[in-house]
Amino acid sequence: MAEYLKSAPTTTFADRAREDVAQRVAQIIADVRTRGDAAVREYSGVFDSWTPDSFRLDQDEVQRLVDSLPDQVIEDIDFVQSQVRRFAQAQRDSMRDIEIETLPGVRLGHRHVPVSAAGAYVPGGRYPLTASAHMTVVTAKVAGVERVAACTPPIRGEIPAATIAAMSRAGADEIYVLGGVQAVAALAVGTESIDRVDFLAGPGNAFVAEAKRQLFGEVGIDLFAGPTEILVLADDDADPFTCAVDLLSQAEHGPDSPAVLVTTSRALAEEVIRLVDEILPGMPTKDFAEPAWRDHGQVVVVDDMDELWAVGDSFASEHVQVLTADPRQALERMRNYGALFLGENTCVSYGDKVIGTNHVLPTLGSARYTGGLWVGKYLKTVTYQEITDPASSADLGRVCGRAARVELFEGHARSGDVRAWRHGGDRFAW
Ligand code: NAD
Repeated sequence: MAEYLKSAPTTTFADRAREDVAQRVAQIIADVRTRGDAAVREYSGVFDSWTPDSFRLDQDEVQRLVDSLPDQVIEDIDFVQSQVRRFAQAQRDSMRDIEIETLPGVRLGHRHVPVSAAGAYVPGGRYPLTASAHMTVVTAKVAGVERVAACTPPIRGEIPAATIAAMSRAGADEIYVLGGVQAVAALAVGTESIDRVDFLAGPGNAFVAEAKRQLFGEVGIDLFAGPTEILVLADDDADPFTCAVDLLSQAEHGPDSPAVLVTTSRALAEEVIRLVDEILPGMPTKDFAEPAWRDHGQVVVVDDMDELWAVGDSFASEHVQVLTADPRQALERMRNYGALFLGENTCVSYGDKVIGTNHVLPTLGSARYTGGLWVGKYLKTVTYQEITDPASSADLGRVCGRAARVELFEGHARSGDVRAWRHGGDRFAW
């Protein structure tokens, strides 16, 4: 039986959609809808103290920001983007268009068609999340999206130069220094100065995630990619120091980021708790990591490996770091996660920053029904059909007439009757 050495309330969708957050977000969206740019400017002033003449950067400003960065920063951006692009391209190549013949001359097919315009939200309230630009913009461009409008908030009154460089080098067509609900709403509904998009992608805090949730339908969204989570699965062999460091690597995202250890070893669990308490006070980001660990950290000791996989799966966590003797077992034993990090040679930070799989991943248990952002999210799988053999058209017309009348759809039935008459010589009585 699982024993909780440290427990915390598990945050749920209901908590996240707390009335105050939901109502605040609804009000901002409604305001942007009716007052457009004026409302966007007002909220940007209130939440980010940011009211420039134009939220959109022109090409000269972008270039000036790119030039202000050390060469090494640009080289690293290019390296990571090449990793992300390579994996996304392989995923795109694996998505084949199909066409099959189900009856003589009856052709059914599907094609993967990119959305025309996508919004890429790159968070920046607490940290300039440069890597989210690689994940959202590079992937959209690999999918073939023609217009990518990227936005990110200023960070403490400054334009995040590395993030803007990443957006530019990834191929963003429009770059806005604008964040939060006002950015998401402007992209989704459109304003006088920002054309609306068809699809919105990217992670964000509880306000950003709630805004995407409320706007879904009017605009497509990638997934519910809210505050970051980590689950570490460890057996007796795991190194407690690595466990502690990896837990804190994600707790520092924000005070609402859950960090959970599930292990078969009570001794390891106790040592990890001790080490976290030892490391935390010296972390420059302890203001976020400390409350995250205090309020959302959990340590669970389980009886055996079967229970480890089962309990681990039940969290449906965004990130799962597997520190066990045979980490690849997770591929067979787990189904609810955003991304797996197999073995101690890799870690969630690699996924976040450098390795090339997408870091925009499902949170709050939404890994039960979706994976993370990938090239396929920017593509619509659309179908088509054609019949080149008139006899097949007549056969299907007869079935269609009968099937539609069972459902009392006389109009549908008659479309089938017409084909059965024209191609099969059938008579009909209406
Ligand atoms: P953010 O860009 O998501 O949010 C900042 C914006 O929030 C500001 O521009 C401001 O306009 C708005 N805001 C702040 N307080 C507000 C309030 N009271 N009412 C309305 N709007 C308000 O940046 P962040 O806050 O640093 O959060 C980034 C989040 O993204 C973190 O929670 C991190 O864990 C998460 N993240 C998730 C993933 C994922 O894939 N799930 C990946 C990376 C980051």
